[in-house]
Amino acid sequence: MENKRNHPYYLGSREYQKEDTIIDLGNCKIGGGHFIKMAGPCSVESEEQILQTAKAVKEAGGQVLRGGAFKPRTNPYSFQGLGLEGLQLLRKAADQYGLKVVTEVMDEGHIAMVREYTDIFQIGARNMQNYRLLEAIGKEDKPVLLKRGLSATIDEWLSAAEYIANEGNRQIILVERGIRTFETKTRNTFDVSAIPVIHRLSHYPILVDPSHAAGKKEYVEPLTLAGVAAGADGFIIEIHPHPEEALSDGEQSLSLEQWASLSQKVDTLLPIVQSIYDRKDS
Ligand code: PEP
Ligand code: MN
Repeated sequence: MENKRNHPYYLGSREYQKEDTIIDLGNCKIGGGHFIKMAGPCSVESEEQILQTAKAVKEAGGQVLRGGAFKPRTNPYSFQGLGLEGLQLLRKAADQYGLKVVTEVMDEGHIAMVREYTDIFQIGARNMQNYRLLEAIGKEDKPVLLKRGLSATIDEWLSAAEYIANEGNRQIILVERGIRTFETKTRNTFDVSAIPVIHRLSHYPILVDPSHAAGKKEYVEPLTLAGVAAGADGFIIEIHPHPEEALSDGEQSLSLEQWASLSQKVDTLLPIVQSIYDRKDS
């Protein structure tokens, strides 16, 4: 208790737990040398779209299907997601191809609904400091993917994770998704240094989301590979059967063919990186 008060994110720190947290999803693990590939559309749009995507995720070696049903859009007139129908379609597609599901929960009031369909809760960048939502997710017993806030420091991010851990849920996965800087050629600036910094400070796994960092599909591949090279425990990317027709984030979504090619490149790089860092894989 004493330590808790003296350290802003004691439960998430290496002082509290020296060994890496390993998240067990049943058919795959995350962290401690276990690498995970998550891919899917920004938003679930239709049955055909999500089934086609899920098939491609599975075939190219992905383990988790992502897809938004409740979308935190910057503008209220933008597509807000299919809601419950989106969750149902996501679950159906994932089950058909033996994948796990990750989807965003935006609101405390939606937790019960989302819980029924997902394997991992996603807390979006815009909600990283929604403390009541964090506390409510902290009472759940499913893993949580906590995105870094748009302008959050690493200390603020780990403090947000502490709100979850302090309520009992220690199955936390951090996601570096780019931060706001003065640069305008990319949507955000991918903070590759967050990976080694998090590994030093915390035992939680850290994934990279190069899609929201780059904002442009042509930079997704190099940023993913940079994340892998820096020691990320996996990645989450946006893909779409027809990126030019996507209802959200099409400009940063890879086609299904581009995703397969990227996944292969990661497989080439990963063993080299793991031998350098001396971290095992499943
Ligand atoms: C998303 O994953 O589609 C999303 C909205 O991400 P972020 O919260 O990182 O902006
Ligand atoms: Mn998106």
